[in-house]
Amino acid sequence: MAYKIIASQCTGCSACEPECPNVAIREKNGVFIIDPKKCSECIGYFDDPQCVAVCPVDVTCVIDNAYPRYVATA
Ligand code: SF4
Ligand code: SF4
Repeated sequence: MAYKIIASQCTGCSACEPECPNVAIREKNGVFIIDPKKCSECIGYFDDPQCVAVCPVDVTCVIDNAYPRYVATA
């Protein structure tokens, strides 16, 4: 259901925060975190997850397998 940010790799650049259509990303203690309850994996908005697309650090925004994949509701 959600992406997560690997905190140890996040530089705190903030590029992802304004790109999230669900306002799921916020800063905490110098790094950015994703609220899994708000993240829709960008489904319904974009073909690709925007946090992944804009993050300059590879493999920092990743699927969090702790949550089931997002299913859009009609
Ligand atoms: S995948 Fe999309 S909805 Fe989820 S945190 Fe990233 S930008 Fe926001
Ligand atoms: S774009 Fe990447 S490095 Fe920048 S704040 Fe977001 S997760 Fe961290």
